Amino acid sequence: MNLKKFIREIPDYPTKGISFKDITTLLKDKNAFQVVVDEISNYFKEKQITKVVSLESRGFIVGGAVAYCLHAGFVPARKKGKLPVETIHESYELEYGTDTIEMHLDALNEDDVVLIHDDLLATGGTALAALKLVRQMNVKQIYFSFICDLKFIENGNKEILSNYEMHSLVEY
Ligand code: IMP
Repeated sequence: MNLKKFIREIPDYPTKGISFKDITTLLKDKNAFQVVVDEISNYFKEKQITKVVSLESRGFIVGGAVAYCLHAGFVPARKKGKLPVETIHESYELEYGTDTIEMHLDALNEDDVVLIHDDLLATGGTALAALKLVRQMNVKQIYFSFICDLKFIENGNKEILSNYEMHSLVEY
């Protein structure tokens, strides 16, 4: 299935010069949504993933479904101030602006094999922040999954991320 045709591109959103990839048009199609979840789950099914860490908020949608398919736990990495008990946090730059993500301190342990999932990889700032959080927990192994990878953006973040096995379904 050509998943790219389900993703709507919005020029100059949210700021001039950005071509926003809108995945809601993919998610609302029952077949495309199923293909996305199945393809990611199939790719990682032999990796003994124990937990899927997803990024608020678009990462939660497919991340949760993939965790279910892999029979793994689900760990939300949330925006600052949303989690109720002790957290670790990491700040990062977005394609537009800055942000902070947090994870519960007790979310992962040394026996975990972690799949970090988000809807889209742009500058890699968000994924790198998630990596820094997960690495603090001394987990066994870390993998990455994205629906979309904006390959045309090249920088130091992505060089660091390239040390980890990464899977994406749609490239730009
Ligand atoms: P990065 O940190 O620059 O890699 O940006 C990735 C994060 O920003 C992800 O959490 C995405 O949800 C969001 N993001 C950036 N650009 C887009 C886009 O074009 N469409 C949807 N989400 C985007």
